[in-house]
Amino acid sequence: MKIHEYQAKELLGAYGVPVPGGEVAETPEEVFEAAKAYDKCVIKAQIHSGGRGKGGGVKLANSPEEAKAIAEKMIGMQLVTKQTGPEGKLVRKVLVTEATNIAKEYYLSIAVDNENAGLVIIASAAGGTEIEETAANHPELIVKEPISVYEGFHNYKGIEVARKLGLSGELQKEFIGILRNMTKLFLEKDCSLVEINPLVLTEEGHLLALDAKVNFDDNALMRHPEIVALRDVNEENPKEVKASEYDLNYISLEGNIGCLVNGAGLAMATMDIIKKFGGEPANFLDVGGSATTERVTAAFEILLSDPNVKAIMVNIFGGIMKCDIIAEGVVAAAKNIGMTVPLVVRLEGTNVDRGKEILKESGLAIIAAEDMADAARKAVAAAGGAK
Ligand code: GDP
Ligand code: MG
Repeated sequence: MKIHEYQAKELLGAYGVPVPGGEVAETPEEVFEAAKAYDKCVIKAQIHSGGRGKGGGVKLANSPEEAKAIAEKMIGMQLVTKQTGPEGKLVRKVLVTEATNIAKEYYLSIAVDNENAGLVIIASAAGGTEIEETAANHPELIVKEPISVYEGFHNYKGIEVARKLGLSGELQKEFIGILRNMTKLFLEKDCSLVEINPLVLTEEGHLLALDAKVNFDDNALMRHPEIVALRDVNEENPKEVKASEYDLNYISLEGNIGCLVNGAGLAMATMDIIKKFGGEPANFLDVGGSATTERVTAAFEILLSDPNVKAIMVNIFGGIMKCDIIAEGVVAAAKNIGMTVPLVVRLEGTNVDRGKEILKESGLAIIAAEDMADAARKAVAAAGGAK
């Protein structure tokens, strides 16, 4: 789960990381009122995407009047950044924050390190909006230091990173404090990423988190109702929001073959085999082990709400779940909502013969498949052929 910059800064602030003062606003009038607290302020679009600075979503204002004028243009705009795609994202809120005099910009984050089954500190003295280019073209400017989740953070790790960034004396102490608090936040709230970019050295000589991104591990959200309360569904893919309401593991993709599968492994294999036959999956979808008619119906609705979907491939292995139950679910769902694209179904496992009979007796124009390869071939053909 992702949250907004203003929420990430509140969290970091609560964990003792220095952040500039600020207030979130939804109208130009609110921006005007908030801006009165500062000589100069920065107006920042709050969307769940980075690269806002380059896209025109971060603007300096020298007075409350100017802040209001900026907000009039920014609130309600479709902000396009490198991360939003060409359609951009609607700006509903902005952060009005104290302007900072920047001497230098650093990059600092804590991420999951899959290879080492732990965390990793990633840092650079070349932080700011060019960090992706720096990482790609000058990897030697990126410092990495693993942290064990069992041992947690130790000062010597912080000293090591600070030294590589050229931070010494009081600044090194500030830096280590920030890292310690970021690690604490990461572990206590089950984060998947805590990123500060830029972490700035101010002209007054202190470190300050000017931008922040905090992502959470969805599988641990049940432990953190206070984090779930920060969710902004406006920022999420509507199909994925609906899927989460029905406990379906759904991820929207670019292709034109909708997939309805039980089991994450089979769902991935299904996407692979569609590609093998020259097709493109429109989604990943695991309906799970307890596919009721209600959930199968919801799954079909989600797939059919995607205008790119030209065919649907159902690939079910009946293990604990029996094929005849699945077949009944597929038929009921197809009748309930009216299938508008060709439907290819492959069933295998417990009660498969009864399942196939149910599909045949339904009178629906279902394209039956013998096995996975047959289903993929038929789905690709039904969606208009291999590319
Ligand atoms: P992002 O582009 O979405 O990552 O948004 P950031 O919050 O990181 O802002 C982008 C850039 O705007 C930063 O790297 C800074 O250079 C600049 N910026 C942001 N806030 C301030 C500020 O308070 N003062 C100054 N001078 N620059 C700022
Ligand atoms: Mg940034």
